[in-house]
Amino acid sequence: MNTNWTLILGVAAILTAMGIPAAAQSKLDEKIDSNINDWVGTYKFLHEHPELSTEEKETSALVASQLKKMGYQVTDHFGQYADGNPAYGVVAVLRNGAGPTLYVRTDMDALPVTENTGLPYASKVREKRPNGEVGVMHACGHDLHMTVLLGTAKMMAETKEKWSGTLVLVGQPAEEVVGGATAMLRAGLFTKFPKPDYVIALHDSSALPAGTVAWHAGPMLAGSDSVDITIRGYGGHGAMPYITKDPIVIGAELVVALQTIVSRESDPQVPTVVTVGSFHAGTKHNIIPDEAHLQLTARTMTPAQRAKVLAAITRITNGITEAAGIPPERAPLIEVSKDNVPATINDAALTQRVAASLEKALGKENVWPGQPIMASEDFSLFALEDPKPPISMFWLGAVDPEKWKEAKEKGTRIPGPHSSEFAPLPEPAIRTGVKAMTTAATDLLQK
Ligand SMILES: [Zn+2]
Ligand SMILES: [Zn+2]
Repeated sequence: MNTNWTLILGVAAILTAMGIPAAAQSKLDEKIDSNINDWVGTYKFLHEHPELSTEEKETSALVASQLKKMGYQVTDHFGQYADGNPAYGVVAVLRNGAGPTLYVRTDMDALPVTENTGLPYASKVREKRPNGEVGVMHACGHDLHMTVLLGTAKMMAETKEKWSGTLVLVGQPAEEVVGGATAMLRAGLFTKFPKPDYVIALHDSSALPAGTVAWHAGPMLAGSDSVDITIRGYGGHGAMPYITKDPIVIGAELVVALQTIVSRESDPQVPTVVTVGSFHAGTKHNIIPDEAHLQLTARTMTPAQRAKVLAAITRITNGITEAAGIPPERAPLIEVSKDNVPATINDAALTQRVAASLEKALGKENVWPGQPIMASEDFSLFALEDPKPPISMFWLGAVDPEKWKEAKEKGTRIPGPHSSEFAPLPEPAIRTGVKAMTTAATDLLQK
């Protein structure tokens, strides 16, 4: 017996000891090996050609055409926004005998961020906006998610003897502006296509090295509310503030007072964020304006905390303006956006099943405990639409393991999602994502 054989048999023994059917895993590894270069190419192409939320025309066409080639029954341009405009949703169905229906979802949109990664495949796309030009970048890794979905689609189509049921792949537009999931659900995603028994997804993470994944049962991402506040004072000459009601001073007090919702009104054990992300008022040094405009985001994990925080924002805003002597007819305008999303709650039973598949696919050492974060996702909405399927999303490590290690040891900064410097490492992130997702899908559609 030569040394190579000893090595191979040794690895097989280890895999068997870990409960992994070595042959099945190595066959999937082989298939992934022979496709990985194509997938990295697809990823780089998508990265170089990002499209903003609701404008994913070419991106969705690429996803749809690749899925069609693999034998999926594809519907594109599926979905409608609240304003009546059509959405570029993609739904791809692969029927493979009796069994459950599994949905796997990817998002497809990019962000108005000017890329600053210096990568050879960095986006140079610019888009004209009323207030100037903006760069467009896949700064949240939705290009990575799409590539993993396409890879998983291919693996599932080529291994139909290993599973039974119906696989539905969803390319969702407009995640970043929280409208794409609603657009597809309202258009009848769960009635015009097979009813889901489970819905799963992944999102990349800058907290994890590429090659790893992480999972968490229960609340995984926060619910999000956008609040617009208009403080209405009385403007006048900057040299004579005593005959005005200055909305800038009131607004400044309000920004500080709003911090007490988290620091003094909320149980520290209950995750809550209140951020004033925008504060605009005035035109010139010596003019006190009539109005000031504030834009807030409030993040919570439960309906009760959400109600409490929104009530506190309203009470504090009204109280501070009243204390400043603003009469009732100039009371502040407080508008809570209807485009709110609830928290993403990973179904416990489904998440445990997915976690077992992740460990089987990647080995226990590459499957980590996932941390919930206060970002938000409209993936949460899939759980609320009839038949209210269990949902689960896991984290996919995206950071170069060397840089990740250096950051841990030396405290160096790792740019994360939504940063102009966010640069996932395509290989092994794509390989890991495809292996994890294919194994999870195959197990959920067990024969
Ligand atoms: Zn994002
Ligand atoms: Zn994202």
